[in-house]
Amino acid sequence: MLSQLEKSHDCQGKRVLLLASKGVDLNEISFLPESLLKVFKVVSFEIGKDFFKIPSYAYDKARRQYNSTLLLEYLTTVKLRGYEKYLGIVDVDLYARGLNFVFGEAILNGEEALISLHRLRPEFYGDPPNERLFKARIVKEAVHELGHTFGLAHCDNPECVMHFSNSIIDTDIKKAQPCLTCQTKLFRRLL
Ligand SMILES: [Zn+2]
Ligand SMILES: [Zn+2]
Repeated sequence: MLSQLEKSHDCQGKRVLLLASKGVDLNEISFLPESLLKVFKVVSFEIGKDFFKIPSYAYDKARRQYNSTLLLEYLTTVKLRGYEKYLGIVDVDLYARGLNFVFGEAILNGEEALISLHRLRPEFYGDPPNERLFKARIVKEAVHELGHTFGLAHCDNPECVMHFSNSIIDTDIKKAQPCLTCQTKLFRRLL
């Protein structure tokens, strides 16, 4: 399905590479290209074959978390050519300045985005494993961060994927799709 769509949208030339870091189980994200395609429609998604290594300088020993902004900057140095956007996927706890934690981070209108699987597993919150819920959260956070790279800002609509998630509850409330207003902005940008 992915390759067919890639062919039919060759003229668009918009390709996103998903870059998994060492420690990410590829089986957990193998569904992601197809799910992202359903939202972005004219963008093709591939999972990079090579893992990227998370730089140790991004680790804050006192917080026991990784600085997502530093990881995002690092991503700009490992990116490959031929893609419009790059989504780094890590499985470590992330924080950003002024925030206790973040699910991900992206450069608005930039090329790089980053998400972490760490706080998306139901087990993190003491809940039983739930693959469907885990996958739904991954898609929402991936769409959200990539949405920033395609120029979408945060949206006030709590059901819009571009709504800012203060907690996993916010992520679970929102849908994987942008609201109509954000969708219009996105497709004006993509088409
Ligand atoms: Zn955001
Ligand atoms: Zn919206």
